[in-house]
Amino acid sequence: MEQRIIDSIEKIVGKEGYSTKQADLYTYGFDASIFHYTPDIVIQPRTTEQVSEIMKIANREKIPVVARGAGTGLCGSAVPIKGGIVMAMQRMNKVKEVSVADLWVDVEPGINYNDLNEVLAKHGFFFPPAPGSAEACQIGGMVALNASGMRAVKYGATRDYVLGLTFVKADGEIVRAGTRTVKDSSGYQLARLMCGSEGTLGIITEVTLKLTTKPKKSAYCLCAFNNVHDAGTCIAALIAKPMIPASCELMDSISIRAVNKARGNPLPDCEALCIFEADGETDEIVARDLKILEEVAREAGAISVTSSYDPKQIDAWTDARKSILAALSALMPGFVSVSLADDMGVPISKVPEAVKRFQEIAEKYDVTIATYGHAGDGNLHTKMLVQPENADMWERGAKATDEIFDVCIDLGGTVTGEHGVGIAKAPKYMRERESELSSIIAIKKAMDPNNILNPGKLEQWEGSILTNLRYPCEEYM
Ligand SMILES: Cc1cc2nc3c(=O)[nH]c(=O)nc-3n(C[C@H](O)[C@H](O)[C@H](O)COP(=O)(O)OP(=O)(O)OC[C@H]3O[C@@H](n4cnc5c(N)ncnc54)[C@H](O)[C@@H]3O)c2cc1C
Repeated sequence: MEQRIIDSIEKIVGKEGYSTKQADLYTYGFDASIFHYTPDIVIQPRTTEQVSEIMKIANREKIPVVARGAGTGLCGSAVPIKGGIVMAMQRMNKVKEVSVADLWVDVEPGINYNDLNEVLAKHGFFFPPAPGSAEACQIGGMVALNASGMRAVKYGATRDYVLGLTFVKADGEIVRAGTRTVKDSSGYQLARLMCGSEGTLGIITEVTLKLTTKPKKSAYCLCAFNNVHDAGTCIAALIAKPMIPASCELMDSISIRAVNKARGNPLPDCEALCIFEADGETDEIVARDLKILEEVAREAGAISVTSSYDPKQIDAWTDARKSILAALSALMPGFVSVSLADDMGVPISKVPEAVKRFQEIAEKYDVTIATYGHAGDGNLHTKMLVQPENADMWERGAKATDEIFDVCIDLGGTVTGEHGVGIAKAPKYMRERESELSSIIAIKKAMDPNNILNPGKLEQWEGSILTNLRYPCEEYM
């Protein structure tokens, strides 16, 4: 990057507000996906006005800008594949105001999910989605991906809590979108459009989230099955009952084995597991829901059903579930767990069929695929175990990914329930959203005519999903 541009950036954010050191640039070229690309500069703004001034420079000079939260995204959304500026939001991390009477909280985008919930808990409220990355991820990243997590089945995704937000457009204009009212039917919902926009339409600098009360009681129920199909059937039967659990997690045998090996057997040794959560205002409500959960699980063929109110036991189960991603990388020596087809959504009743089809695809391409996820809302994750330097294995993995996405689209689902499109899902996103594509392209052109905001992602993706691999595989680095 030219020194005169760096000098102008320094005038805006000061010496401590940016870096061009190679080590920083390299580090900010990753997220938690399989991709990497080194940017030219990392900027850490402190205010909306600073973001606006930087965008004016970037737009004038036609420099790509990629907003970055904690970099925990799993499909390359925050990887700066065209170089340029990484706008890292971690210094904008304050809770600006909590208005309990009006049911909202105003935050800066760099605040961490758990930190926000600590503040909200003091007022008796919470922001429920509960992503597996809760300890690290930021609210700006959650909004930009419409992230969710374990409690989305009952409480919804991030988008359902965004009342309004402030964002900076590509040309530096500061826009306040939405309201601070719980209800709003005032025309186009620009704030909603920003949810899931993955940094391609603007840089979010403030978010107004709706508050909701935290239930006082909860308990968990762990159900073991002889096969993953029965576990999927149990989930569909439960929802149809109707009974919406507070969370509903599915794990297949590979995920269970990986976690038991890595963490000293916190889970029963079985072919499939469902971990349910029941919550409510009183013990009676929770006990009633647990009873329904247990009955449905037994009817669906569960071989063991164990309920618990004990926080230690519950932590052991939920920590085990959250550790799948890391545990899978320790399952087979020489193999790493990677996010290729990592986050599909299917209609809930189709979960059993989807899981069966994933297994068939794994056999067809001779790859190891673990399936787990927030299956209560039809959100299924798969992780592939790959030898990083083995090009043939990556290629088989890419073909399997392609077919898994097709299965989900054909079942009436989506290639991403919560992790976003980024790079990994871009080709199939274009198939899934075919009928919306010309409108999507028109919106992007109108809001970012010079195409500087996270260019080359989503509908702009070209090439193979193995381009820019961060692993030591010569063919695709
Ligand atoms: C172990 C693990 C478990 C996970 N579990 C879940 C889960 O249960 N549910 C789930 O939804 N996800 C999960 N994820 C994925 C990821 O953590 C979340 O989607 C999270 O919301 C990403 O937040 P982030 O701050 O890390 O965003 P980043 O990865 O930094 O960025 C994600 C996208 O948001 C954009 N962005 C970030 N900040 C802004 C901003 N201020 N303005 C505009 N655009 C912005 C970036 O450009 C990028 O496109 C998991 C990841 C890991 C590693």
